[in-house]
Amino acid sequence: MNPQEIFGSMVFNDAVMRQRLPKETYRALHKTMVEGTPLNPEVASVVANTMKDWAIEKGATHFTHWFQPMTGITAEKHDSFLSPIEGGGAIMEFSGRELVKGESDASSFPSGGLRATFEARGYTAWDPTSYAFIKEGTLCIPTAFCSYGGQALDKKTPLLRSIEALNRQAMRILKLFGHHDVKRVTPTVGPEQEYFLIDKELFYQRRDLIYTGRTLFGARPPKGQELDDHYYGSIKPRVSAFMREVDEELWKLGVSAKTEHNEVAPCQHELAPIFSSANIATDHNQLTMEILKKVAARHGFACLLHEKPFAGVNGSGKHNNWSMSTDTGMNLLEPGETPAENAQFLLFLVAVIQAVDLHQDLLRISIASAGNDHRLGANEAPPAIISMFLGDELQSILDAIENHQAYVAGARTAVNIGVTTLPRIPKDTTDRNRTSPFAFTGNKFEFRMPGSAVSIADANVTLNTIVADVLMGFAERLEQAADLRAEVEQIVVDTITNHKRIIFNGNNYAAAWKQEATKRGLLDLPSTPDALPYLIQPENIALFERQQVYSGEELHSRYEILLENYSKVIAIEAHAMLDIVNKEILPALITYSGALAQAAAGKRVLLPDLPLPCEEKLVKKLSQLIAEIDSKADALNDSLLRIDLADDPLAKARACRDDVFQRMAETRALVDEAEGIVDRNAWPFPGYGELLTTK
Ligand code: ADP
Ligand code: MG
Repeated sequence: MNPQEIFGSMVFNDAVMRQRLPKETYRALHKTMVEGTPLNPEVASVVANTMKDWAIEKGATHFTHWFQPMTGITAEKHDSFLSPIEGGGAIMEFSGRELVKGESDASSFPSGGLRATFEARGYTAWDPTSYAFIKEGTLCIPTAFCSYGGQALDKKTPLLRSIEALNRQAMRILKLFGHHDVKRVTPTVGPEQEYFLIDKELFYQRRDLIYTGRTLFGARPPKGQELDDHYYGSIKPRVSAFMREVDEELWKLGVSAKTEHNEVAPCQHELAPIFSSANIATDHNQLTMEILKKVAARHGFACLLHEKPFAGVNGSGKHNNWSMSTDTGMNLLEPGETPAENAQFLLFLVAVIQAVDLHQDLLRISIASAGNDHRLGANEAPPAIISMFLGDELQSILDAIENHQAYVAGARTAVNIGVTTLPRIPKDTTDRNRTSPFAFTGNKFEFRMPGSAVSIADANVTLNTIVADVLMGFAERLEQAADLRAEVEQIVVDTITNHKRIIFNGNNYAAAWKQEATKRGLLDLPSTPDALPYLIQPENIALFERQQVYSGEELHSRYEILLENYSKVIAIEAHAMLDIVNKEILPALITYSGALAQAAAGKRVLLPDLPLPCEEKLVKKLSQLIAEIDSKADALNDSLLRIDLADDPLAKARACRDDVFQRMAETRALVDEAEGIVDRNAWPFPGYGELLTTK
């Protein structure tokens, strides 16, 4: 395999377009991609035809509009290029209209009330800023998915709007700094994806994994991650063969998978691509999740993307590295070489600080899911409290600026923005704080809270929008200012003073931080139902409307979808748990304890004088557990019936959290206790010890 040759070989990318499209068509399309100008129908038709010829040469027979509905995964509906002609033959056809717009029955996708049943149609619209690609013989065209009224029914539409919002506001600032050559500012994203690999055979013996993606039961194994011997450990041959094939598949699709290593937990791994624009990175992350699962199956593995597949073992996240970059190649979060560049860097930096402090609620919501709730706040992932890490050097610089003092480490005179040259801020130094939910890492921020299973669209929609909104405020001040440099300095000082409470360079896992954060007035929203109501608060609706990212109606629909989704996930887990208890666990325990009782009775006949403390103790304990598990299962069943009485989605979600979820935890505790004392061969499915020593 020659990586260079296969990279992007299945992508209708810029190189292919340049080579195959007539010059004027290429130029028109390129303008659309870079500047967001609308595409005219003639251009679309030429592009479609060229795309089709290219796809057929690569073995494609079908095409699909590839979109990202609110389910969080991608959807596709395949149509063949084949079109019958008079006389019985057929030709391969693909029109501009088919490329640009598709109809889709929206009624089977979550819409949160946006799509009235009498208007069930939705449409998909080509997003020319993400390249078309061929996957399994099908030309996939990245598209946005909307209702006929134009409301977003997907995750791409708001992402594209938020990218525009950020572009609009960042451009205003760059103009003031004299960058007249810059045409566009784009958020850049590099998501690091964590996942577990376990043996496929074992996976299919666990119906909890099959139905819910996580284990609902499992006694602690004798050895877990205590020794920290898995992190960056040598990769086992079967796993590296898997990773090689994942790379190959991803490279063909133009996904620049770059680093792979073992993670902290046993059987846990990470894959990171080289960053790209937020839109492409989001598409690519969806593809990455899909390919991880498919390739795993070919290697006898099951890939678990759930945020918390195993209790007591670290969960999986997705570190969303984020920055802003210009079409001229300038990273706006890269400290510069000259005083002017540094003033600009500091302005963008404090914009992010202000945005995160003002919109902790929205960031928390952007990563809220039933799965991720298991991770946040537990002693492994970032807590549910949002704070930012800047590192010692940058912190001292900001302190000096705030207090109009000299910055000593760099042995310079008083920090005077726009005049002073700041020292180079070290990247990747050892002081990297891995406990921070939002860390500055030299020239980008790393948002560490997203869950491993969900689309990164929501996190990036939020980041783009909240930073755009702060930049809008800055631009308004700066455009009025008589002395630009002085006003920049004032904004930086004001922002540090007003928003420094969000900066925390200490250990986010420590119990003391929770108290400290409360004292600082930071939000602590441990669960999804705690967080979601903030989404529809008037100031948040105003913010998203101001930045033209969501309408109030769209936000309300998303609020409902997210709540419903949360309740559904928990209800499915509870039903799966009951099913497994009734059909697997109780029967196994009854059979096993019965056999023990019989053996003990037999021995009693043979050896009437010999005491049988072990057998008797076990039979007694197991019989007690059987009765308790049975009664907890009944209680769980009752709580499931109760949630249907809740009269609105929020009440239902809260009932799922406070009632159903608690009953599940109680049931699990008893089952795990039983697992700990039952013969391995009598347990109906493989336990943690087996699952986590796959190889
Ligand atoms: P690590 O966090 O493991 O030290 P890196 O810092 O090299 O690794 O990068 C982690 C991820 O951040 C990679 O996906 C990388 O491409 C991405 N990244 C690097 N620079 C940027 C940037 N300017 N914008 C967005 N993502 C970036
Ligand atoms: Mg990282």
